[in-house]
Amino acid sequence: MLDSEADQAATQLGEISRWRDSFQLAAADVPQGHDRRAFMMRSAMATAIAALTGRPMAAFAQAPAQPPPLDPSLDVVKRSKGPVMTTVDEMYKVGPGPSSSHTIGPMRITYDFYQRCTKLPAAQLNQATALKVHLYGSLSATGKGHGTERACLAGIIGKEPATIDPAFLDGLAADPSQVFPVKLGGKTFNASLQDIVFDAVKGDFKHPNTMTCKLMARDKVLLEQEYYSVGGGFIEWKGYVPPKKGAPKYPYSVMAEVLAHCAKANISVSQLAMANEMSVSGKSEAEINAYLDKILGAMRATVKSGLAAPTSTLPGPIKLKTKAGDVYKKALEGTKPTQRAIALVSAFALAGSEENARGHLVITAPTGGSAGVMPAVIFSLDEGAKLPDDALRRGLLAGALVGYLGKHNATLSGAEGGCQAEIGVASAMSAAVIAEAYGAPPQVVANSAEAALEHHLGMTCDPVAGYVQIPCIERCAFGAVKAWTGYLIAQNEVPANRRVDFDTTVSAMALTAKEMNSKYKETSEGGLAVSVTLC
Ligand code: SF4
Repeated sequence: MLDSEADQAATQLGEISRWRDSFQLAAADVPQGHDRRAFMMRSAMATAIAALTGRPMAAFAQAPAQPPPLDPSLDVVKRSKGPVMTTVDEMYKVGPGPSSSHTIGPMRITYDFYQRCTKLPAAQLNQATALKVHLYGSLSATGKGHGTERACLAGIIGKEPATIDPAFLDGLAADPSQVFPVKLGGKTFNASLQDIVFDAVKGDFKHPNTMTCKLMARDKVLLEQEYYSVGGGFIEWKGYVPPKKGAPKYPYSVMAEVLAHCAKANISVSQLAMANEMSVSGKSEAEINAYLDKILGAMRATVKSGLAAPTSTLPGPIKLKTKAGDVYKKALEGTKPTQRAIALVSAFALAGSEENARGHLVITAPTGGSAGVMPAVIFSLDEGAKLPDDALRRGLLAGALVGYLGKHNATLSGAEGGCQAEIGVASAMSAAVIAEAYGAPPQVVANSAEAALEHHLGMTCDPVAGYVQIPCIERCAFGAVKAWTGYLIAQNEVPANRRVDFDTTVSAMALTAKEMNSKYKETSEGGLAVSVTLC
């Protein structure tokens, strides 16, 4: 790298930091009726981008008038300020589909509560007679379509989300009357789906996905905890204090800062991401790589089992037939290389997404609905391009960084931002995976992610009958193919000629999410959900 480039990068970092400071000082100037965080974020990004490009960003002067929907005391809201602190084990989580917020999150919650119960004194446990779970808000409204109650029961009886045998959940769906013994200390009592209560849909909840867990001694409550499934499988609880983390070696909150750090230190995006993982989590490089290997293994497994599954009808009223195996077999017979490649990537994504719809184990990258996208890309880089595991690990790190920025500056939740936030971000993460795995320079990694995200902007979330099947399953295939398209355009264009940068596109996604009608935010009240006839 040229010294002048390093100097320029250092200057840019300093400018971004100074402009951010000036925005913090100007916090009191947020226009009345505007969301303070979104206004400041857009404004900070506008000045940073103006500094880097020399062009003013007039569009950022607009601010939406809607108030933020989430309680400001939630850590998921607070975490959006300051530098990115998320780590790979928070971003990539293994658990049962079909929804990270309605299945994986609730199961992580009930498993957490079960763990808390096991730590109670023996005298208290000896009185225990039952475990009860109450689902509120969106979890109560659409939980049945997501298998929330089965996931909750599995967790409350001590089954771990990352290792549960999907056959257990399949069996529970086939026979909901099953009863399971729960042993807590010296006491054993029964638990069943009767203990999972679909409670109030509307109320003054801190988060749309609120739930309570109780350990009972007949009518007396021995232990009670209120929890929130805050999206992407992340969970919090009343009184939640985030775990202590170290300072990131390369602090950033926008991609412009990532690129400036990379230029200044002459490192790749994955090298920056690994350095930050280590400094934030306190883990060694070997420990982080071991976790990434587990995620790679889980991604390969979800594609393989989805491809091997016989054609069947997915659960729910849509009666949707699976197709991954059929598309895969036909693709293998194809003689035209381009068509074959696109069909194979599509088949891999359908396979992962159908596994999600079956309620089998998937990986949040970033969510359950988008669970077919990144595994398809990993599988194509692995089985198709034969890239080594260390290239795939580097890809996962760069993909995670893109996901962090989506979460930090916009949202990863279809309920908050429509499908652009799920499949759109998954596609952007996956485009970064491809670019980084091939050793592309940081600007190309960022441009790949930008291209993939840009062409999902405005995409609505309108799952038919509330099931993560239509449009979600085929949409994963399009997200995976668009990830490749994003990379191939970014790799082959002159990087500096890209007119729209990643931060601008994330900001546009946040703005679009704010202004999107709630009919298109996972409520199944508009679009395909009201257009497809079920019979
Ligand atoms: S439409 Fe998109 S955002 Fe909505 S549930 Fe399906 S995959 Fe998720």
